[in-house]
Amino acid sequence: MLQSVFIPVLYLVSAVLFILGLRQLSHPRTAPKGNRTAALAMLIAIVSTLLVKEVISFHLVIAGVVVGGFIGAVAARRVEMTAMPQLVAMFNGLGGGASLLVASAEFYRLGSQIPDFTFSAIANSIFIGGITFTGSLVAFSKLQGLMRGAPVTFSGQHVVNGAITLSVIVLAILAIQGSMEMPLVVLIIIGLSLLLGYLFVIPIGGADMPVVISLLNSFSGLAAATTGFVLVNNSLIISGSLVGASGIILTNIMCKGMNRTIWNVLFTAVGTDDDGGTVTEADTYQAVKSYEPEDTVVIFENARQIIIVPGYGMAVAQAQQMVAELGKVLEAKGVQVKYGIHPVAGRMPGHMNVLLAEANVPYDKLFDLDDINPEFEETEVALIIGANDVVNPAARYDTSSPLFGMPILDVDKSQTVFVLKRSMNPGFAGVENELFFNDNTIMLFGDAKETVSKLVSELK
Ligand code: NDP
Repeated sequence: MLQSVFIPVLYLVSAVLFILGLRQLSHPRTAPKGNRTAALAMLIAIVSTLLVKEVISFHLVIAGVVVGGFIGAVAARRVEMTAMPQLVAMFNGLGGGASLLVASAEFYRLGSQIPDFTFSAIANSIFIGGITFTGSLVAFSKLQGLMRGAPVTFSGQHVVNGAITLSVIVLAILAIQGSMEMPLVVLIIIGLSLLLGYLFVIPIGGADMPVVISLLNSFSGLAAATTGFVLVNNSLIISGSLVGASGIILTNIMCKGMNRTIWNVLFTAVGTDDDGGTVTEADTYQAVKSYEPEDTVVIFENARQIIIVPGYGMAVAQAQQMVAELGKVLEAKGVQVKYGIHPVAGRMPGHMNVLLAEANVPYDKLFDLDDINPEFEETEVALIIGANDVVNPAARYDTSSPLFGMPILDVDKSQTVFVLKRSMNPGFAGVENELFFNDNTIMLFGDAKETVSKLVSELK
């Protein structure tokens, strides 16, 4: 009775809660609730599984939950917002590794009695899980600076990767047909999948890693879903599929926001060693207008509307609280303050929304690109805080620019543009930004947090 009715119902409840959680995560206002809903769904799924399976040792399960939970909680609490992509990469990798281990363990448990379908599910789970594991470790190492961020390429790389994939398929078929020993094939597939994960990610530049991490997130979901088929566990199949699908949707959103295709990201080895790029000549500094914060107060005070455009530099400077404070000070002086949020500002989707939410900036002041762009022409001041690529006008017309075709925030159309950054260094795409040389642009050089803090005290 428990096995046949109660458990499937609990799995269904958990699946519905997962979907509801995802729905709630799609808006900043309901996102914290979405997190809790999905966590409850996971709890129900885990408890149901512990009820249904013959658990050999509850001590081991509890020890795993305590140790894993502790490490996860400490890592999540300690991580800097700018290091979030690395943390996600690590979590994906561990998910993929777990699928590989569970599927392998199930293979050895079942022995020679394995039905063909189960063996193909095991082979899939090991293959996708293995790629996710080593691929995520490479992504983590590139972002953490443990490995060179630049693409590592060699001739025939894609042919080698294709040959590995094909060999895995052929080996699995041979094992099912009985022409090869299954245990040997499983060992070879484990080795090849781990190798392929490494080879798949090394040719991708460190700067494209967030997109790859999102794709590997999708892979970790697919690995979990195939493990669900191995274990005949509906909850794992549903939750794995949800992760797989949402990871692909997110990858697609990121590629669209950058005006790139996923094939371009994966196979063209674009990217520089890090975000900075080359330091430009002193003449470049002379060609731009640069003010001190105290010289700008009058312009801010006389504005009717100011649009704040945050970017990656706001995250690096951890300036979000100060920016929120500046918004409040300006509003107290009767200035209308809005925030223009580009879909790929920062280094992960929703990066700016999360930071501004952390600083308690009301959601109704945050505007998407399409909603805010028509307003720049009517705006006295566009205040750019550590953004670069997402406001580069070359994206509109320069076909040779890597940014060409990317929708940008039309800050250059406002009366005055203030740009807060430390130097003339380029952003993520590694290209110069002509916006900085426009007549209506004023550079405020320095760390964004310090500059905004000076602006706040001057305005007060
Ligand atoms: P950019 O990377 O283009 O520029 C960030 C700027 O911030 C730099 O020019 C840097 O200039 C400045 N900066 C860094 N630290 C500080 C600091 N402490 N104080 C002040 N300024 C600072 O950022 P954007 O947000 O404009 O664009 C995001 C880019 O990332 C896009 O090209 C996008 O395609 C890409 N991307 C985004 C992803 C996403 O999901 N959001 C995923 C993958 C890529 P300086 O060094 O002179 O200070």
